Amino acid sequence: MYDPKSLKAEEFIDHEEILATLEYAEQNKSNRELIEQILEKAKPQKKGNGYVCKGLSHREASVLLVCDIPDLVEKMYKLAREIKEAFYGNRIVMFAPLYLSNYCVNKCVYCPYHYQNKTIPRKKLTQEEVAAEVMALQDMGHKRLAIEAGEDPVNNPIEYIIDCIKTIYSVKHKNGAIRRVNVNIAATTVENYRKLKEAEIGTYILFQETYHKESYEKLHPAGPKHNYAYHTEAMDRAMEGGIDDVGLGVLFGLELYKYEFAGLLMHAEHLEAVHGVGPHTISVPRIKHADDIDPDVFDNGIDDDTFAKIIACIRIAVPYTGMIVSTRENESCRDKVIGLGISQISGGSRTSVGGYAGYSADERPHDTEQFDVSDQRSLDEVVRWLMDLGYIPSFCTACYREGRTGDRFMSLCKAGQILNCCHPNALMTLKEFLEDYASPETKEIGEKLIKEELEKIPNPKVKQKATEYIENIHLGKRDFRF
Ligand code: SAM
Repeated sequence: MYDPKSLKAEEFIDHEEILATLEYAEQNKSNRELIEQILEKAKPQKKGNGYVCKGLSHREASVLLVCDIPDLVEKMYKLAREIKEAFYGNRIVMFAPLYLSNYCVNKCVYCPYHYQNKTIPRKKLTQEEVAAEVMALQDMGHKRLAIEAGEDPVNNPIEYIIDCIKTIYSVKHKNGAIRRVNVNIAATTVENYRKLKEAEIGTYILFQETYHKESYEKLHPAGPKHNYAYHTEAMDRAMEGGIDDVGLGVLFGLELYKYEFAGLLMHAEHLEAVHGVGPHTISVPRIKHADDIDPDVFDNGIDDDTFAKIIACIRIAVPYTGMIVSTRENESCRDKVIGLGISQISGGSRTSVGGYAGYSADERPHDTEQFDVSDQRSLDEVVRWLMDLGYIPSFCTACYREGRTGDRFMSLCKAGQILNCCHPNALMTLKEFLEDYASPETKEIGEKLIKEELEKIPNPKVKQKATEYIENIHLGKRDFRF
């Protein structure tokens, strides 16, 4: 029976409740009065200096997802933009994936790392190679990484992952530093999550792939990942292990997107109900072509318009969550969805093991790639593109380093402190990027943007301090934060 507070996967992601939700949504997809009420409920409300949003239940959000009244769909997009603006402003946080190992004992049918794939070379980075990758990433300007690995208790045990994290944090190359390591590894034990927490990871990310249990078991026919409950309950174990920033996601294309959408929101509601804090991030990956994977084999692919609608509806339903779109999406798709609620994007990404060090910006090793990268621009190009669109590319990691994780980060959002805190932090980290890594053209656009954006800081003391810090960065100092 459906119970968001239950710790059992099949009770907080209840199949019958999802089916009932889809039916309810279908019945109400043209119900103007109800949809207007839902949109009204989701609007940001002014509170003190900031805004608060109520968010939506999975049922309400599922109605929006199928809404077929064109003017209300437009209203929905407008609302998603407003919510994004209220909590995240025009900042977009930058990161890159770092693939550590493609050894894997699972048999995920959509992933080329599955153990039966004999054509893909298996590779695991040594600590020297990790350091070389990190230097290459620092030379691009990255400060925040998401580490990725296949599941293999012999080749990639937790000790290996922890060693890699230590190596990553220890590399200080020129003015570079990786200041936040997010971790995307297979579901594991409370004890291992505790070890990750002790290693000072940022977010623990785990994609559900699909919330549909029967499909899940077919798509993961062998290996530890086959266990739906163990996988679905992983975030509860991560929280029990002390990690309070967790990142959800589904791999769109595997199952019906309406089903996944309802499941994803139920998972977010469950985290809120049990731990008092929702997901720190939600990712929206879509299946891509890879070594022995043809995405067309999966029947549930979604087009760019549906993808955009999903993103807008997530933004409205889970207003405080960060939302991530990766380089699986090409420039034009990212352009289309970025304003609808995305707060983080990757740039200059390589999805192969050892794909950064020793390769120039337009050289791309394919042999160990997890999937094809659609946005192949360099980080400098992505940063310039964002600024041309009116966004502030941010390399900020301050919240996590100041202990503003979990509900403390959400409180910052609600207190309206973004313009006095995240905004100057974004500008300072952008300034570091411009000084150390940007091309002359990017630098020129960025300097102008920083000048304009400094004017928007409401608190005069913060504004003065931020201006001083930015001058200091120009003089060679680094790592200021509010
Ligand atoms: N092995 C870990 C796990 O099972 O969760 C780590 C994740 S894996 C390196 C990162 C993610 O890539 C997977 O969770 C999956 O959603 C995604 N992925 C796998 N194959 C893909 C493909 N062909 N196209 C796009 N994304 C893919």
